[in-house]
Amino acid sequence: MDFEVVIGLEVHVQLNTKSKMFCSCPTSFGDEPNRNTCPTCLGLPGALPVPNKEAIKKAIMLGHAIEAIINERCFFDRKNYFYPDLPSGYQISQLPVPIVEHGSLEIDYEDGSSKVVGVTRAHLEVDAGKNIHDKESSRVDLNRAGTPLLEIVSEPDMRSSDEAVLYLKKLHSIVRYLGISDANMQEGSFRCDANVSIRPKGDDKLYTRVELKNINSFKFVQKAIDLEVQRQMEAWEDGVYKEDVVQETRLFDSVKNETRSMRGKEESADYRYFPDPDLLDVVIDDKLKKETQTIPELPDAKKKRYVQEYKISNYDASVITAEIESALFFETLVEAGVSGKNAVTWMSVELQGRLNKAGLGYEKSPVSAEKLATLVSRIEDKTISNKAAKEVLDLLMEESVEVDDAIERLGLKQVSDDGAIFGLIDEVLEANPDNVQRYKDGQEKLFGFFVGQVMKASKGSANPAKVNQLLKERLNG
Ligand code: ADP
Ligand code: MG
Ligand code: ZN
Repeated sequence: MDFEVVIGLEVHVQLNTKSKMFCSCPTSFGDEPNRNTCPTCLGLPGALPVPNKEAIKKAIMLGHAIEAIINERCFFDRKNYFYPDLPSGYQISQLPVPIVEHGSLEIDYEDGSSKVVGVTRAHLEVDAGKNIHDKESSRVDLNRAGTPLLEIVSEPDMRSSDEAVLYLKKLHSIVRYLGISDANMQEGSFRCDANVSIRPKGDDKLYTRVELKNINSFKFVQKAIDLEVQRQMEAWEDGVYKEDVVQETRLFDSVKNETRSMRGKEESADYRYFPDPDLLDVVIDDKLKKETQTIPELPDAKKKRYVQEYKISNYDASVITAEIESALFFETLVEAGVSGKNAVTWMSVELQGRLNKAGLGYEKSPVSAEKLATLVSRIEDKTISNKAAKEVLDLLMEESVEVDDAIERLGLKQVSDDGAIFGLIDEVLEANPDNVQRYKDGQEKLFGFFVGQVMKASKGSANPAKVNQLLKERLNG
């Protein structure tokens, strides 16, 4: 049977506010356990929550970025469940009226085509603490309890694990461009649950979905979905679909490379949601609207602009704008006078290759954009050859040294001085009288031989264009 894959994603983005969602405790990561707590985030009776305006603003910015509806009045609900890392016994979230609804996000394929994925909603909620288990004990750290999260829920619009990854990367990039989250997947500030079902091709019904949790990298999203699709297809084909594909939450195990059942899927009724009586409605007034009206230039807009302004290809532009760090790096290069074409070559090819090898991103690049711009200008002003510049770049990756000092140290300065090059030419011609005669008798192919000999005599440092020009003068003049 031919199947179609149906995927909807729920992404939890930790907003990078200084303080928590409903109290003034700091949100810093990695502090001594239970340091960043107070009666409110410990859920002590009588303590009252006060919403964090910055978190609300950041949610609105996301709403603008995905061209969604911002609800002018929304409110918070209590989602009740029991777990040791949830001291109040409920999570503050939003159910019927989220702050953001009905948005969309465009994903781009490598061949240049694109697809729009619907974003159902984005709502504000709080994170829980962390249970820590070791041999002797289980302990609870509540430093993270009460940290603001924005949960962004997509429509079940994706049809392959590739599309799911493209969607996630786009969303990741957008929250980083907006500066509303550091979106560090390893530290858990950008977490994803994938809802997966399959259906016979041509059928437009939604079949039972399985929710996959514990996915903390783009690579694992792909893996987890592919494994789950495989499992569901086998269940269909073996005729055990009804028994094996039940609505449940499954855990992805990246070591064993499998998904396994964690618990039956709860319905929202299981949580006994009700409006939080401690909190007033959030009203987005004109002042707040004004404050959140302008958002930074987003990846798609940057991409279009780079293609137009700097005449680079669509593909190159999408690689550069995929992450905010590389986009800013590119902008510094071109502002320093590097052409779009050279910026792509030296950044996306040469530097990127070296950074990948070193396992570094642009934000940690040992070679700054300013330095790379200087290096490129040394090629343009013919101080060094293209080839020599690659050697200089290698040194710049290793040591914190200025471009000109590196050129000097490596002895790569091109000889462009006419006198010096004539000197070399004369040496070569004197050493090869037979070939000179043959050339003069009409064997013009030998010109390349002379160029090669002069370059060799200069140990590669002669400016090849100059060598060609002066050699012609000598031989033909
Ligand atoms: P819950 O909190 O119960 O998981 P949400 O509404 O938060 O519910 O999330 C539901 C997610 O599952 C959405 O991303 C939605 O697109 C997706 N989804 C719903 N039905 C299916 C289905 N049959 N197959 C795949 N994904 C689905
Ligand atoms: Mg869910
Ligand atoms: Zn607190």
